Amino acid sequence: EKGESTRGQISIHTENIFPIIKKFLYSDHEIFLRELVSNAVDATQKLRQLSSFGEFGGELGGLKVTVTLDEEAKTITVSDNGIGMTAEEIKKYINQIAFSGASDFLEKYKDKTDDKGAIIGHFGLGFYSAFMVAEQVEIITKSYRDGAESARWVCDGSTEFELTPAEKTERGTDIILHIAPDSEEFLDKARLRTILDKYARFLPTPVEFDGQTVNNTTPIWTKSPADLTDEDYKSFYRELYPMGEEPLFWIHLNVDYPFNLTGILYFPRIKNELRFQREKIQLYSRQVFITDEVKDVVPDFLMMLHGVIDSPDIPLNVSRSFLQADSSVKKINGYITRKVADKLNDLFNTDRKGFEEKFDDIGLFIKYGILSDEKFWEKAKSFVLLKNTEGQYATLDEYREKIQANQLDKNETLVMLYTSDRKQQDAYIASAVRRGYDVLLLDNVIDSHFINALEQKLEKVHFQRVDADTLDKLIDKGLNNESVLSEDDRTKLKDLFDQVLDNKSLNVSVEAQPIDELPVTITMPEFMRRMKDMAALSGE
Ligand code: ADP
Ligand code: MG
Repeated sequence: EKGESTRGQISIHTENIFPIIKKFLYSDHEIFLRELVSNAVDATQKLRQLSSFGEFGGELGGLKVTVTLDEEAKTITVSDNGIGMTAEEIKKYINQIAFSGASDFLEKYKDKTDDKGAIIGHFGLGFYSAFMVAEQVEIITKSYRDGAESARWVCDGSTEFELTPAEKTERGTDIILHIAPDSEEFLDKARLRTILDKYARFLPTPVEFDGQTVNNTTPIWTKSPADLTDEDYKSFYRELYPMGEEPLFWIHLNVDYPFNLTGILYFPRIKNELRFQREKIQLYSRQVFITDEVKDVVPDFLMMLHGVIDSPDIPLNVSRSFLQADSSVKKINGYITRKVADKLNDLFNTDRKGFEEKFDDIGLFIKYGILSDEKFWEKAKSFVLLKNTEGQYATLDEYREKIQANQLDKNETLVMLYTSDRKQQDAYIASAVRRGYDVLLLDNVIDSHFINALEQKLEKVHFQRVDADTLDKLIDKGLNNESVLSEDDRTKLKDLFDQVLDNKSLNVSVEAQPIDELPVTITMPEFMRRMKDMAALSGE
């Protein structure tokens, strides 16, 4: 017998859910200020828009947001002269959790506005973050509408509130937070200043605190590239990273479809450092700082870049795993990779010399990209450069061409000789060069991985370190083999070394024509060396 099936409605008790929202909405309590200030900015931007549609005929005045700290009264107040709320609107937008007035506004005016970008909120939860730090929250507000009554709403964080008429005469809203005893750390000027500098730095409406404006309302990423000079980009870089070295070059991102994204990515000088500075890209949503943990939005290899990405399409108040699976995040990821590859390709094609000069700084980054992203490799294979011990650069194709004549082994595989340590392998390099072979300088931290990747990606190419027992297996066109040592001397010398070394993994060869008075060369086969390197790595 089967039981009967039942359908029904799960009931949610607000008394239970409210404390959960308060506690877990954001792990970081300082976010309350970001939420309240961005609501205040929204209120001013909405009024600006209403005015531009002709729905508001009054004076806009100087639209602004003011944050005030009163240490004695233990309050933090966020005030604005934006649209304000009527008592009805408070009931609708504040009392109904997750009923966002911002989405309501956008929905209502969606045909009129092509500038959705101006409004920040759309989750309808941000306001409640006030209760993470306040034991009581007061809203005193007056709507921009003609003849609107002002209203006061008070709530202590339970599900009960009080809504009464108020005395406010000016349009706009004051949100007064009565800070709870366990959050008094926020009753501190320097702390608030730091939080505002972090989150409000580029908000579109002036935000005042302690008599000063804390933000730049028109950061350059919101402007058109055509209106910007190199100096604008450099000075914005200094604004973001006052301690940073001048960037090598930059990309201005600007796309509306299939997602909306603007931003500027800078290529810093990376050099041979794997401990590169991560978390240097800042993520914004409509000019509100969100995070500098851009892990899932920006491909891993691009985390070496610096700069700003601003997208209202990145879901912000959700978990990391959701972010990873999010389709617009994936698209954004692909878009950024493509843009970066195109920019590099462009530089390579238009200014080969400049590209070569920068290569030591960006090589690590390009190689990392090749290792981690197949699409990037597809583009990068035409511009990634190999540098030889003479300091000459060649693309993969050029290099193939260059060594084709005499760096083939008996299987007709091209052997790319390289050194991972110029000083240590100096005698081997000299010996190879003397025979007319070319030696690559691959001494970057990432190069052993890069070499493996190239061997997989390129056909009939093998990398051998100069101290591998390779040289005598290559086509030798360089030398006349006039011997200084007799055949007999050479055999004796070799036997002697073999005995002393007593190590089967090392090969001893005696040069017929000693180079730099170094007649004996001890080498280790490439595969043995790589195995040893691996063992050493995993043994640590
Ligand atoms: P969201 O900003 O995502 O819409 P919030 O919880 O932050 O959600 O805010 C809820 C709503 O309350 C807003 O959409 C807006 O309608 C209203 N509101 C909040 N703060 C203000 C303010 N300073 N001025 C006018 N309306 C406000
Ligand atoms: Mg909000």
